[in-house]
Amino acid sequence: MTGFDPKHFKRGARVGVLGMGRSGLEAAKLLARKGYKVLASESRPKSSVLAELKRPACAMQWEWNGHSERLFKCAFVVKSPGLKPDLPILRSLAERSIPIFSEMEIALAYSRAKTTIAITGTNGKSTTTHLAWEIFKIGLPRGRKAILGGNIGIPLAAAAPAAKPSDAIILECSSYQLEDSSYFKPRASAILNITADHLDHHGSMRAYLAAKAKVFASQEAQDACVFNADDPITYKLSRTCPSSRLYFGRKAAHVHAWEQDAMLHFKLPRWKKEVVLAPPRLPGRHNLENAMAAGLLAFSCGIAPAAVRKAFRLFKGVAHRLESCGVVRGVRCVNDSKATNVDSTLVALKAFERDGKRLLLILGGLHKGSPYTTLRPWIEKTVKGVLTIGSAARRIEDDLTGLVPIFPCASLDTAVKTGLAIAQKGDVLLLSPACASFDQFRDFEDRGRRFKDLVCGAAKAG
Ligand code: ADP
Repeated sequence: MTGFDPKHFKRGARVGVLGMGRSGLEAAKLLARKGYKVLASESRPKSSVLAELKRPACAMQWEWNGHSERLFKCAFVVKSPGLKPDLPILRSLAERSIPIFSEMEIALAYSRAKTTIAITGTNGKSTTTHLAWEIFKIGLPRGRKAILGGNIGIPLAAAAPAAKPSDAIILECSSYQLEDSSYFKPRASAILNITADHLDHHGSMRAYLAAKAKVFASQEAQDACVFNADDPITYKLSRTCPSSRLYFGRKAAHVHAWEQDAMLHFKLPRWKKEVVLAPPRLPGRHNLENAMAAGLLAFSCGIAPAAVRKAFRLFKGVAHRLESCGVVRGVRCVNDSKATNVDSTLVALKAFERDGKRLLLILGGLHKGSPYTTLRPWIEKTVKGVLTIGSAARRIEDDLTGLVPIFPCASLDTAVKTGLAIAQKGDVLLLSPACASFDQFRDFEDRGRRFKDLVCGAAKAG
């Protein structure tokens, strides 16, 4: 059997959904609406799940605190993306030859949209997906919609089933979602970059790469996949791609999109002339890469250059990713709360390289395991002072000692107050914490919103 096909499973059959996070719940609701008897199976206790989710109105059976043998009576099971692939229940289901599908496959099987655009990569997915969505919204002919979904926070099972055949689904895919999607055939896809990440979930780099490769594995020659030519792992993986390969990178001679004199150049295989566009006004080289990827995806689907140009001009970036959020007494404040690991903070510091040593950098939160010493050369180049917060503060102070003044602040409120007090006109107060947020905040968005509120309050106070 290839992928999920509703024709293979009678209405009224019992089916299971493993893991009741947001996407599991949406998959369960969709299947219940389609006439299946759904067993919603969750390893956490009822109280913690229902504190997060509203119990749906539609009929389904629930089981809490673990997955029972009732799942063995199911015609198929949907696995939520967060569940580890080595869970014993998954092995038991496989031994009984019970098909396991991803939420993404189920959602796409019920979608009539003929065009799916899928974006994956270790970093840059959300930015590129939002930009591609903007381009398609502007570039699709009247009457055709661009629908955003996936890992971006909008479960596909909620977004895709309403699509019309002429609509395009713009989909952010995490490696977790791809891992379970054995028959996934986007019209165009992109792999932005690959660095070792989520290896605790996938078990090995090999398994992580195998998951990423599913974004193109079922494509055919008339489809397209966009790759980063400058990223050695991504480039190597591209050689196994069966569809039309499009590359972005630095060397104009070998790629289909590149940067030259602050402009982005595009030249697809059958084009006679290049298209040259001003990039979106976003900081950092990484955002040029995201723009090149989004542009190539659009061009491979026949979107006109004028639409891409307009979307680049209008795109303001995504909240919490190097987001300018106000100026207080001549000090620009930038919210990069999404930088939850050291690599992301490194990317942020590189984006400020041209400004010289103007940054007051807020670092800290929940430590994720990587040392902060890799930041040292870039802190030396770009940072005037470091303000530490959260439970990782001591570790950060030790790793960065002797470089620049460090101000232990404990809380974000104190860090913003201290940063603004010591900053001079023309400096930048940057929240790019290199840590998870869960020690002091609900999530990175909560942390970013708090930062913006503090900046807003300081700006009003003058
Ligand atoms: P994702 O959805 O993959 O987490 P985002 O677009 O939300 O990616 O960006 C998260 C962080 O990743 C950004 O704050 C930035 O530090 C970094 N980043 C974004 N785009 C890239 C890229 N193309 N290459 C490397 N790092 C990037």
